Amino acid sequence: METEFETLLSKIKSLCLGADLQTIKDAFEFAKEAHAGQNRLSGESVITHLLETASILADWRLDTTSIVAGLLHDIVEDTDKTLNQIENKFGSEVAVIVNGVTKIGEIKLRGRQEEEFVENIRKMILVMAHDLRVVLIKLADRYHNMKTLSFLPLEKQKRIAKETLEVYAPLAERLGIGEMKGKLEDLAFPYLYPNEFAWVKSFSAPYYHQAEEYVDKAKATIEKEMEKEGLIAQTHGRSKHLYSLWHKLMRPEVNKDITKIYDLVALRILVNSIRDCYAVLGEVHKIWKPVPYEGISDFIAVPKPNGYRSIHTKVFGPDGRIIEVQIRTYEMHQEAENGIAAHWHYAQAKSAGVSDKKLSEGVFAPDEKLSWVKQLVAWQKEIVDSREFLKALKFDALSHRIFVFSPKGDVFDLPVGATPIDFAFTVHTALGDKAAGCRVNGKLVPLDYKLKSGEMVEILLDKNRKAPSRDWSNFVVTQIARREIAKHFNKS
Ligand code: MN
Repeated sequence: METEFETLLSKIKSLCLGADLQTIKDAFEFAKEAHAGQNRLSGESVITHLLETASILADWRLDTTSIVAGLLHDIVEDTDKTLNQIENKFGSEVAVIVNGVTKIGEIKLRGRQEEEFVENIRKMILVMAHDLRVVLIKLADRYHNMKTLSFLPLEKQKRIAKETLEVYAPLAERLGIGEMKGKLEDLAFPYLYPNEFAWVKSFSAPYYHQAEEYVDKAKATIEKEMEKEGLIAQTHGRSKHLYSLWHKLMRPEVNKDITKIYDLVALRILVNSIRDCYAVLGEVHKIWKPVPYEGISDFIAVPKPNGYRSIHTKVFGPDGRIIEVQIRTYEMHQEAENGIAAHWHYAQAKSAGVSDKKLSEGVFAPDEKLSWVKQLVAWQKEIVDSREFLKALKFDALSHRIFVFSPKGDVFDLPVGATPIDFAFTVHTALGDKAAGCRVNGKLVPLDYKLKSGEMVEILLDKNRKAPSRDWSNFVVTQIARREIAKHFNKS
């Protein structure tokens, strides 16, 4: 166990410069004592699971708070240690995150009825909205759980795999961690569709093999060309994930014809700057002609909704075979692998004046001045606002909802178009009855203002007020507000 922890520490030292190693050691000792003697169904000790979880968080270069919370994430649920003890020892930030991870764990995403399912997803988003690090830890936790899923009873395997495919993989995608999305899907695939998985795996194997050899050949050619032009780049092949291959094979226009899939193994080229991306694109097209109509997708000029950036081009490669080439900077690559965490890390490093060379190596100390919290607030707003995100979760019902905060940080969800009066009655009838004004993010707004996700809403009270105003019924949208307002006027 000690050696496993040493391995984790050295990873943290090299990837998360500026991490507080002593606190991480304390968290490890604390967890080790609390979980002493506990084993998982796989036979591994619980500590191994915690170290694996923390190790993924370190890969994402997250901060000390995240890694500490990662080591402690199962304590409240599985030991007699309390949240208070965690707060006393590691501070309230860690406690809030551990509490969030525990809460999400308690939400069962298996409602039989679609409605119940949506309700549970909504609860999950509410927990997440407090601190995005909660969901990053949950993803790391889920990833390791999926790797050891075969030790669980059959029924549990199916439920967890389904949840992973329908909730956690789309979440990872939305957070821009494309790599994790693909890995989670591939881990869930055999549990949910065993026959299809077996078929795709064996049927595609020789094609993968062929494609790899072919990409190696293309790689040698383009490397020579780039060297001639003085372009410094790293190249490698990347294999398509199986689950995503299966989906593509099932599309009507592909109709299980694997020779129509050109990115089975893609050639990936990493360079230092955006300028170099376009220079490399020029070199690629000089030696291999782009496929008409299928040609180039420039996700640098027009990034995908989740922030993904790269240039993809399909070309007639060596021997006239079609091949996909993906060109991106090291920074874009980091982002695609590590999602929002890398985003944050890069922004910090750049503003701290870290050199391009260091950036390309991906090793640098974060600047303390820019806080996690600031970045997270921005991301939280985006995550609750985004229709794309909800669409990815397949729950349109949620796109008709907004999420707002009380001054104390409690989250309330309301229908789109909700006003401060709707908010007030949702919080408490008395708050609605006495509402006289409203501040949103500190600024005064009219009572018929339409609230937006992520806003902090504060209701100003008039203690002498006895009843709501009749006019309010012209603009409120919630049942509760309507009912409460009507109550006062039906009586008289
Ligand atoms: Mn866990």
